[in-house]
Amino acid sequence: NAILEAQNLTKKFKISKNSTLTACDDISLKFYQGKTLGIVGESGCGKSTFIKMLSLITKPTSGEIMFRGCDITKLKGEEKRNNHSHIQMIFQNPLEALPPRMKIRDIICEPLLNFKKIKNHEKDEIARKYLEMVELPEEFALRYPHHMSGGQRQRIGIARALVLEPELIICDEATSALDVSVQKNIIELLIRLQKQKQISIGFICHDIVLVSQISHQVAVMYLGNIVEILPGKDLHKYAIHPYTKGLLHSVFYLGMDKSTKIDKLTGEVPSPVNLPNGCPFQSRCSDAKQLCREIKPKLREYQEGHMVACHLLPIDKPV
Ligand code: SF4
Ligand code: MG
Repeated sequence: NAILEAQNLTKKFKISKNSTLTACDDISLKFYQGKTLGIVGESGCGKSTFIKMLSLITKPTSGEIMFRGCDITKLKGEEKRNNHSHIQMIFQNPLEALPPRMKIRDIICEPLLNFKKIKNHEKDEIARKYLEMVELPEEFALRYPHHMSGGQRQRIGIARALVLEPELIICDEATSALDVSVQKNIIELLIRLQKQKQISIGFICHDIVLVSQISHQVAVMYLGNIVEILPGKDLHKYAIHPYTKGLLHSVFYLGMDKSTKIDKLTGEVPSPVNLPNGCPFQSRCSDAKQLCREIKPKLREYQEGHMVACHLLPIDKPV
């Protein structure tokens, strides 16, 4: 049962008379209850635009976002605001994301104020409950964000996201700015909360190893397109898209099967302005053929739960 489903989401920005920037191109993804969908790709691949569309900050050029069967791109006013309570975000830099002059108690309760008035003693009660949930002492309720460490602030970010009891939490590089040991603790907390509350998590991150370790499904994004989707646990062994393999090669990855042929990623991500025809990865792909320059490969099912967008596929291994 998908909670949220992006259907053919496209976002284009007209930047001058003759040029269009394609940030997201026909993206379809599903977020399931109690599961984590990881989205990985280099910076500029369209991850941020994609989640801005999901959280209704950016309006899609075309496509639909179905939340529990209803297209939320069509919502306005109060309906739109109510929808926000089901989908919450956690950002990369918790110091920037938390208002500096507010006490932690008020920061945690702030999202609720959009929906109802809360008395001070109720705020204390709510702050205590959510601080406990993110494993922080209740005394933190009266502190300010700058009196806390990065990891503690990110726990506050999580507490604030949880206070509306959302069904989906989207973490946008939420652990990228943290030390590895702190990162591990935050991720363990997220996983524990997910199990407890059956929350769906969208985990957006440029670190392919981390994403594969914590995600049930991983979607690999390149230049506004999803090029491969597969279970996180299979990623290092069974990834077959040349871009995914290149990403894996770019990290020192001990678990990697040495027998697979892997090309290093060279060059840079091309500009998303006025994209050429054909495969978005053609300019960096050592396997690119004439067909790749003419026709854009569709995302097709390769095996159950494994989708790939590459022309090589039916030749090497028939579906
Ligand atoms: Fe490379 Fe062609 Fe596959 Fe694109 S479709 S990834 S250019 S082989
Ligand atoms: Mg980004």
